[in-house]
Amino acid sequence: MAPKAETLLAHLGRDPSAQHGAVNPPVYHASTILYETVDSLLNDTKPLRQGATQYGRAGTPTTFALESAVAELEGGFGAMAMPSGLAAISGALLSILKTGDHLLMADTVYYPTRALCKDILTGYGVQVDYFDPLVGGDVHHLIRDNTRAIFVESPGSLTFEVQDIPAIAQVAQQSGVLVMADNTWASPLYCNPLALGADLVVHAGTKYIVGHSDAMLGLIVAKTEALYTAVRLRTQRMGYTTGPDDLYLGLRGLRTLSVRLERHFQSALTLASWLQEQDAVSRVLYPALPDDPGHALWQRDFSGASGLLGLVLKPASKQAVAAFLEDLELFAMGYSWGGYESLLIPTFPETCRSATTWAPEGPCLRMHVGLEDPSDLRDDLTAGFARLRKTS
Ligand SMILES: *Cc1c(COP(=O)(O)O)cnc(C)c1O
Repeated sequence: MAPKAETLLAHLGRDPSAQHGAVNPPVYHASTILYETVDSLLNDTKPLRQGATQYGRAGTPTTFALESAVAELEGGFGAMAMPSGLAAISGALLSILKTGDHLLMADTVYYPTRALCKDILTGYGVQVDYFDPLVGGDVHHLIRDNTRAIFVESPGSLTFEVQDIPAIAQVAQQSGVLVMADNTWASPLYCNPLALGADLVVHAGTKYIVGHSDAMLGLIVAKTEALYTAVRLRTQRMGYTTGPDDLYLGLRGLRTLSVRLERHFQSALTLASWLQEQDAVSRVLYPALPDDPGHALWQRDFSGASGLLGLVLKPASKQAVAAFLEDLELFAMGYSWGGYESLLIPTFPETCRSATTWAPEGPCLRMHVGLEDPSDLRDDLTAGFARLRKTS
């Protein structure tokens, strides 16, 4: 029997018999791990092995429970918990790159990933080039002798272009280049980039895995043992470690991921279709919509869509957008997403790209559709659109 993902979510990373029958793994608060003999203390070679304690920084059974669960959901050899999504991205990139290497980055990547390249990686002598997220197999024109990795994030942050990961991965494989995918939007449930040809996957567990806007968490998943060992060694050398309470919240969030995502997906699709018909809205950026430019690729590579989408409004003044956003009762303004609550913020995608242009016809917004009743969310937006119309 090969259990489905929903079944795995309820069972992965649990071992009640090892903890007096308790359903959930305990939260281990530990720095020092004790040894019984001089020999075992001095000759411990375990720290790079999965599931072995050595010192708190290397993880405890709480860490290993989450890591093994996410590794299995993504179909990787192993996973490493990180203190945030951005730490997962920096940990993975700093582990595989060295001075003189060339990195290809999707132009629509999450802005802090771009800032990491600009402020840290280029300073270390890594060359970074950005590519059109729609490049597909043509990415081979951009590969150089020193290209080490291609970083994809599908769909792209803020503008939601779906990338052809299999086509990119095929070219990368032929050139001996690694593919790293930020899979935060889809979560391990709706897309598995390793199965599409990627070598490394990163997640901001902060979003849907934790799912309740109360903890920061990241994960790196490696496809092979060799990559796992290389990244694990280096992230350990750099001191990345994750607090036990946050790991526990990640494990707890995983158990309900499928029911939450199903609701986020259905409500987001309902609202996205409704938004397409609103006078104030020029375009809705959401690959699950049948007329979205990325819909065919999304249908091929994803099994669902999450609750995060983009909007391009018809031309409107700053004051009108502020009047729309500031008095919404259910949608709040704030960074991050993936919790149970709805969010809506203005975005400026044209300021975070360099290889492509983005010239929207009006103001851009990013919406996270939470778990509220979608008709209440619709009513809140309807009142907002009335304020938008009245304010010039
Ligand atoms: C939020 C986010 C991150 C960073 O995660 P943090 O936990 O906030 O550091 C990385 N990638 C994407 C796509 C994100 O949305």
